[in-house]
Amino acid sequence: MTDTPTQLFIGGAWVDASDGATMPVDDPATGEVLCHVADAGPKDAKLAEEAAVQAQEAWARTAPRARSEILRRAHELIIERTDVLAHLMTSEMGKPLAEARGEVAYAAEFFRWFSEEAVRIDGGFTTLPDGRNRMLLSRRPVGPCLLITPWNFPLAMGTRKIGPAIAAGCTMILKPAPQTPLSSLALAAILKEAGLPDGVLNVVTTSRAGEVCEPLLRGGRIRKLSFTGSTAVGQLLLAQSAEAVVRTSMELGGNAPFLVFEDADLDKAVDGAMVAKMRNMGEACTAANRFFVHRSVAEEFGRRLAERMGALVVGPGTRDGVDVGPLIDRRGRAKVEELVADAVERGAHVLVGGRTPEGPGCFYPPTVLADVDPGSRLMDTEIFGPVAAILTFDEEDEVIRRANDTPWGLVGYVFTEGLDRALRVSERLEVGMVGLNTGLVSNPAAPFGGVKQSGLGREGGRVGIDEFLEYQYLAVPVS
Ligand code: NAD
Repeated sequence: MTDTPTQLFIGGAWVDASDGATMPVDDPATGEVLCHVADAGPKDAKLAEEAAVQAQEAWARTAPRARSEILRRAHELIIERTDVLAHLMTSEMGKPLAEARGEVAYAAEFFRWFSEEAVRIDGGFTTLPDGRNRMLLSRRPVGPCLLITPWNFPLAMGTRKIGPAIAAGCTMILKPAPQTPLSSLALAAILKEAGLPDGVLNVVTTSRAGEVCEPLLRGGRIRKLSFTGSTAVGQLLLAQSAEAVVRTSMELGGNAPFLVFEDADLDKAVDGAMVAKMRNMGEACTAANRFFVHRSVAEEFGRRLAERMGALVVGPGTRDGVDVGPLIDRRGRAKVEELVADAVERGAHVLVGGRTPEGPGCFYPPTVLADVDPGSRLMDTEIFGPVAAILTFDEEDEVIRRANDTPWGLVGYVFTEGLDRALRVSERLEVGMVGLNTGLVSNPAAPFGGVKQSGLGREGGRVGIDEFLEYQYLAVPVS
């Protein structure tokens, strides 16, 4: 911890908050304070904005290859420092070290991917249909961006935005979640070492998100907001962005359905369920929230899933052999407890788990609930914890209707051995991504994002850079 920066990163320098404020960072495995970091206020946000605005023009003119090389070097530095970054992430967020190492690799890959995209930004040149005009089409950076990230993937949610912003030639202010500021500060130090010019990335850690972000969005100098977080906060920020017509991309909440048909390979379905439910202790926007299992296989599926969930080892993420770390904080755990209590009150059977352990830390055991009533609160609330809620269905049309009966549409999972059904059902799900006989869809080379209230735009893949680019069209008469 001693080398980890704890100050704000503004204009390439490490500085205290202008009013000297700091905020604690807690270890969710013990409830103890790990350290204090600078707690920025509106004045610091202004300084960060000024630094980003000042750096924008020169940065936009840098050679794409130069931007690409910075990302490439940063990718290598992240990989070299996997252990340090993984420990840092586990200490502030709680996930087991093996998962933290996995996230470091995933996060670094966004930099490698966008280092390759930085040099492939193309334009166009053509004679228009009237024959009297030529069109020159070029792409240019949107300008200074505000990037707001959640706590659940502290490193990858940052690199998924910073990678394409650097590749496109945008400057930025990153505002990480207050629970997990350390990973973002460590990332800023790496980018500085990799040669990122001063002012291109500014990191503002704060417990006063509203006070810091609203003036930036309304001020007219920030041209783009890229947000990952809850739908409720996303809606608020969309409204704030309307005034200055700030471009937005929104990666919001999910309520993923997980469909197991009667012709599914149950081994694959249970393996998929373990990933879709238990990755990141269930604290993922992609987490399976509603398991719809065909009545003929529901009991067997529930039994096998409960057996696998019950065998997982719960404990501090730093301890060897631990599969499931603590939840992020007491509030997060209390929400899971309430959702489980509500489902049980409405008749759900607890196949495994369901009881909060005594002692320090925000631990909650892997839990499987069967015969969940469709009116239970966890059907229309992101559980964000290690709780699998199983409901049964009889007909394909019925389950598609029920799966789509939600305001969210991030991801769905479909388990069936029939090719026709696999494609038919996937096409009818109102989601941005489908896992077909797999519980994992996230990949830096694929466009990640949702429909309906799960968001706007896509991150990653070939299209990820588009979110940070504008078109400019030049009309040139044919003489
Ligand atoms: P959150 O919405 O509470 O916070 C997200 C970020 O927004 C944090 O940095 C927070 O400080 C900031 N924020 C909160 N209020 C703000 C305000 N008034 N103005 C500006 N910023 C504000 O979400 P969370 O609890 O950190 O993360 C969990 C949520 O994120 C879940 O809903 C999850 O589904 C979602 N998520 C979505 C994706 C995706 O790609 N779709 C990925 C990860 C997480």
